[in-house]
Amino acid sequence: MEKKLQTIFNYIKKLFPNPETELHYSTPFQLVVAVMLSAQVTDIQVNKVTEKLFKKIKTPEDLLKIGFPSFLSAIRSVNYYKTKAKHIYTTASLLIENEKLRIKNYKNWIPDNLKELMKLPWVGVKTGKLIAHVLYDKPFIAVDTHIHRVSNRLWLVKTSAPEKTSELLEKLIPDTYKDFAHHGLVLFGRYYCTAKNPKCDICQLKTVCTYYKANVIASVAKQS
Ligand code: SF4
Repeated sequence: MEKKLQTIFNYIKKLFPNPETELHYSTPFQLVVAVMLSAQVTDIQVNKVTEKLFKKIKTPEDLLKIGFPSFLSAIRSVNYYKTKAKHIYTTASLLIENEKLRIKNYKNWIPDNLKELMKLPWVGVKTGKLIAHVLYDKPFIAVDTHIHRVSNRLWLVKTSAPEKTSELLEKLIPDTYKDFAHHGLVLFGRYYCTAKNPKCDICQLKTVCTYYKANVIASVAKQS
């Protein structure tokens, strides 16, 4: 498995030397807002919405200053915008309260550990891990649909639930790869090992890919 991991991550690193989130942000609070908006929405759509919004909102205080109705209207093109607006607004209030009480004293308003992050509204394990990884370099693999698919196709794991995939990958992937494993796998799944038309013809992971051996080779054999 060590050799296989090396092959996979060396190749992904060649394709994406410095993988990072495609969500645009310049402050930690903006990252939290962008991640919360991104549920069931593409990063491109989120970036369109936040391009204007983030000129006015850099901190939780800025968000409360513009007021709920303006915020709601600014994000109305995003799926489930009413629910998201409510949760993001409550999050901003909570972060301000924590800051005032000085009980948290986190850098730039945002908690730096999963347990505290998960106390924020609508922040589950996946969202919490993603925020902690991006902002604080925590060695998490926040498994989305891309990572789940790629990991199963390459037989790094054999799971049906993304939560289980996350747990197993974090045990399996050595620390040396953890700094880029999350974003590398996401980008590889988004642009190469896509759900419908994976680019197997140009992919150099064929030799270690279970999906390729089971599906692509088998279908060629059937046709001949
Ligand atoms: S060979 Fe195809 S299925 Fe396998 S990892 Fe590459 S793109 Fe994905």
